[in-house]
Amino acid sequence: MTEPLVARMRAFGTTIFAEMSALAVQTGSINLGQGFPDTDGPAAMLDRAVQAIGAGANQYPPGPGVLELRQAVSEHRSAHYGLTYDPVSEVLVTVGATEAVAASVLALCEPGDEVVVFEPYYDSYAASIALAQARLVPVTMRPVEGRFTFDPGELRAAVTPRTRAILVNSPHNPTGTVFTRDELTVIAELCRERDLIAITDEVYEHLTFDGVEHIPIATLPGMRERTVMISSAGKTFSVTGWKTGWVCAPPALVTAVSTVKQFLTFTASAPWQLAVAYGLRHEMEWVKALASGLQDKRDRLMEGLAAAGFSVLRPAGTYFVQTDIRPLGFEDGLELTRRLPELAGVVAIPTQVFYDRPERGRHFVRFAFCKKEEVIDEAVSRLKRLSA
Ligand code: PMP
Ligand code: GLN
Repeated sequence: MTEPLVARMRAFGTTIFAEMSALAVQTGSINLGQGFPDTDGPAAMLDRAVQAIGAGANQYPPGPGVLELRQAVSEHRSAHYGLTYDPVSEVLVTVGATEAVAASVLALCEPGDEVVVFEPYYDSYAASIALAQARLVPVTMRPVEGRFTFDPGELRAAVTPRTRAILVNSPHNPTGTVFTRDELTVIAELCRERDLIAITDEVYEHLTFDGVEHIPIATLPGMRERTVMISSAGKTFSVTGWKTGWVCAPPALVTAVSTVKQFLTFTASAPWQLAVAYGLRHEMEWVKALASGLQDKRDRLMEGLAAAGFSVLRPAGTYFVQTDIRPLGFEDGLELTRRLPELAGVVAIPTQVFYDRPERGRHFVRFAFCKKEEVIDEAVSRLKRLSA
């Protein structure tokens, strides 16, 4: 048979997360690759899911989501960001942020439209844009004084008459950058001037450190009306396997995204929706403690990686720390991460796979710190073999 896969998906192969997690299992390595926590979410929220199943929440919920969750999302937006979203016409529940991004791009971009994306970028963006037959236009983030940022001139130059949207991911995976108000203002000005939509991926909204606050771009002047704001319970409540996310946007944008979403999955699983509604209403203190614990784990991993010989950048949010491998005598992160199980019994993610121009990220490797202290310590002691 000739290649069965459609041409526009052929470049994608298997995701780096699947490849590296399989490598960890195969080699018995410590997995600091794929970003998932090795501890559970808040116990009462987990109980709520069990209870929901016992109480019969086992048939299709309404397509746009269980009303209780849409109300809880609306209350949460208002309490944390001062943003008002009507639970019925402006909130849509999705199967994780991944479906929300895919449905948004498919709903809002015509073939040939351009979507500006900051590289390195989360891998599903490129695939969603390809499925829509739109074009990804990358703007490179580079380390400046210890944090990855973009050049406003390069961003401006990336916008053309074909640009439809800017995809804004902050806190940013894989760099750990949390965009400042100034950075967001540059993006917002362009969106307003050029009549663009901001599709935002805010899955790490609560996981920020050192007092740095996440600012949703929808809170900037003139932006609520043109922003499709995406979140997910996975990272906020340490339940990445629940795949429960949501979109908040004005009615016309939510209707567009819902039109596509209903034919991707129709609806999301009922029990998790009820449990996440509980989490948003009762477990935000737990989330605060999670973020503060993660900050300590970040520091622990950063110190360890520096002691092992990596040059380390300090992330202000997310689960991830970026390292430069050149001080250890390596040049290519893909080559190193494929050999890392054999060299040190650890798995990490080569940052270059998140670039359209991989050479720009060739010497960076991403490590996840959303792991128990003893796991981090063991990984660090193994990584010290690299410089021994
Ligand atoms: N966006 C980013 C930036 C991510 O890191 C991830 C992975 N959690 C996702 C989206 C996917 O989120 P979900 O599991 O809710 O689909
Ligand atoms: N978001 C997680 C990460 O960046 C992985 C998600 C996935 O496996 N697709 O590591």
